[in-house]
Amino acid sequence: MASTTGELRPAASSIRVPLSDPARGWAELAPELGRALEQVVDAGAFILGDQVRAFEQEFAAYCGVTDAVAVASGTDALTLALAGIGLEPGSDVITSALGSSATPTAIVRAGCRPAFVDIDPSTNNLDLDQVAARLTPRVGAILPVHLYGRPVAMSSLLALAAEHRVAVIEDACQAHGAEVMGRKVGALGTAGCFSFYPTKNLGAFGDGGAITCSDPALAARLRELRQYGWRERDRSEVLGFNSRLDEIQAAFLRVKLPHLDRWNARRQQIAALYEQALTSLAGVRTPGLSDGHVFHLYAIRTGSRNMVRARLSTLGIGTGVHYPVALHMQPAFRSFAANIRLPHAELASSEVLSLPIFPQLSDVEVEVVIGALPESIAA
Ligand SMILES: *Cc1c(COP(=O)(O)O)cnc(C)c1O
Repeated sequence: MASTTGELRPAASSIRVPLSDPARGWAELAPELGRALEQVVDAGAFILGDQVRAFEQEFAAYCGVTDAVAVASGTDALTLALAGIGLEPGSDVITSALGSSATPTAIVRAGCRPAFVDIDPSTNNLDLDQVAARLTPRVGAILPVHLYGRPVAMSSLLALAAEHRVAVIEDACQAHGAEVMGRKVGALGTAGCFSFYPTKNLGAFGDGGAITCSDPALAARLRELRQYGWRERDRSEVLGFNSRLDEIQAAFLRVKLPHLDRWNARRQQIAALYEQALTSLAGVRTPGLSDGHVFHLYAIRTGSRNMVRARLSTLGIGTGVHYPVALHMQPAFRSFAANIRLPHAELASSEVLSLPIFPQLSDVEVEVVIGALPESIAA
């Protein structure tokens, strides 16, 4: 890449480093993935067949639950989980103000109302004191998001939920394989929701999602909901959805699942390299390393985020912002959050910056990012 500033740069800076690169995930396993695709085409069944059933069993076993129900996306996983647990229509569902629009969209689509709470700035996850303060009788569920792959402190959250008799639906869309209380996320609440969007820790090559639970009756209801409310073919018992995972994506996910722990370990290794290099860098706050964190994203905080991002971009380094607008400030959700201020989430949305992290990222690429940060941050 040509330098526009005329300064000499080390040779390594000519490397472009993407924020994420799912194509490298294909390249790593191309022969196996190709065979999986051929197998599905040869079998001639494309929706809710043997591959989906096998993947559901394998993913349930991986998460340590009795059931996994595969659906079309993470948003659908959240929507169906909320619909499946049978909340009173119009119930409040407590969730974090820093996260994906997918989460409150699912809450509203399920007929509930998002009740946003602020984050704990030391973890970026929802602040449990705020959850406790927000637990009115209108609340039907708490929806903790294991943001960036860092598990929420579930023992306190589960105790609060039990005390108030409300359900807990985990948004584990960024945290496949993350562990807390000696268990995998998705195995702690009433149900866990996963996305297999291509860049997620376990990603398909298209859309996909799953709901985990250890309640066969709930799993049976979710299987009805995902396909027109059918209990048996052409018998709609309840009003359902069409949200199925297809066989090709399930076959790909079966190839990838056995590699998830190794890939998460690599993400943790990259996070450790960033921590080592960046903790002492002035003007930057790093997320720190913590138990069970699978680093879907590695988000630093910096007061001059937009400038740093632009400078890294001119050096060929891809970054992301997760997320630029707190959820309670977004037009679609404003009516559920009239006049509330959640200062920690609002400040985070102006300061967070996600650095490249994915399993196939090389040590050399990590060094390039680390090398580019001091000059990008200097005023
Ligand atoms: C990706 C994501 C979702 C939505 O998943 P889709 O598969 O894109 O619908 C929900 N919540 C969080 C936290 C996510 O990161």
